[in-house]
Amino acid sequence: MSEKVIAAVRTGPEQTEFREFNMPDVPDDGALLKIEVAGICGTDVKFYSKPPIDDPVIMGHENIGYIAKAGHTFRKRRGLKEGDLVFAEHYVGCMNCEHCHRGDYRLCMATDWRKNPDGIRFGYTSAIKAPHLWGGFAQYMFLPWNAILHRVPVGLSAELAGVVTPMANGIQWALFDCGVGYDSKVLVQGPGQQGLSQIVACKQAGASLIIVTGTEKDKKRLEVAKKLGADHAINVDEEDPLQRIQQITAGEGVDVSLDCTAGAGTIPVLLGIEALKRKGGTLLVQGDVSEFPNFPLGKIANKYITIKAARGHNYESCELALRQLNSDRFPLDLITTHRFGLEKTHDAIKAVGASGEVIHVSLMPWS
Ligand SMILES: [Zn+2]
Ligand SMILES: [Zn+2]
Repeated sequence: MSEKVIAAVRTGPEQTEFREFNMPDVPDDGALLKIEVAGICGTDVKFYSKPPIDDPVIMGHENIGYIAKAGHTFRKRRGLKEGDLVFAEHYVGCMNCEHCHRGDYRLCMATDWRKNPDGIRFGYTSAIKAPHLWGGFAQYMFLPWNAILHRVPVGLSAELAGVVTPMANGIQWALFDCGVGYDSKVLVQGPGQQGLSQIVACKQAGASLIIVTGTEKDKKRLEVAKKLGADHAINVDEEDPLQRIQQITAGEGVDVSLDCTAGAGTIPVLLGIEALKRKGGTLLVQGDVSEFPNFPLGKIANKYITIKAARGHNYESCELALRQLNSDRFPLDLITTHRFGLEKTHDAIKAVGASGEVIHVSLMPWS
């Protein structure tokens, strides 16, 4: 009798079914990951309620685990062996294009599930496609030859390593894309795990002013934001954020505005444009708003604003994030607030979307 793997499969909007899959054969150049922690983020909340594809999908794209089985060529090429703790990026690159050579696997067509029907991305790919185990909400995940792996540094717990994805995005978006550095003045909109990770990255890089905004339900998160280095926290349900930002910056505005909100529509974009300094600021935008009537293009030109799109993380930002998480410079355990077993997958995703008490949720299939 062959061994079975239990996985939580998304079968429709807000529907999870537990299914058994055959333990896959590990090819010479591939491996099998025993999932230790699968992090859950706002993207999961979004795609759980509105699945982007109809096929069954094992979600879970922020995965930490132990190499459980590995082929000979895999071990030789990767310098990894069975028992090693690794972070698997959710991108699976072709390893041949210009983006892959730069470590920008997120931009590779081989992992673009929107445009390429054969694209593979952990947590997004159809479970119908063999060998089926393409997501972290399961006991095991299949690692093909082109999975992108990072060794988890010695001393870093799997649970805290589970924050690597938002932290890597923090480094990528704030530092690499928007150029935050010494003496930068930054507005972070939204104090969820993503916004909090931006704050840590900005503080570490030398930002002299960090303002964070949130709503009434974010009260606890705003407190955590201050403990992680935010200088000012604004509850937008209590006060006018723009007025307050103008007051804090003596009318100068900020250098960079980072949108880490969820479901706030065009509001954070408009606030960001207004809050940026008179000339030459940088605005980081998300792609949630498909249409933007009356977009103030004139103001973008007038204020000489650079717009950057939030698009995941590159290889280097993951390495830096793992080191950041392994340093004791910030009380990062304030972020890892909740743990759920595999049988509670539905509740775990709902928890991320629901409460301001919840910051980072770890799905731990074996606990
Ligand atoms: Zn995510
Ligand atoms: Zn590529």
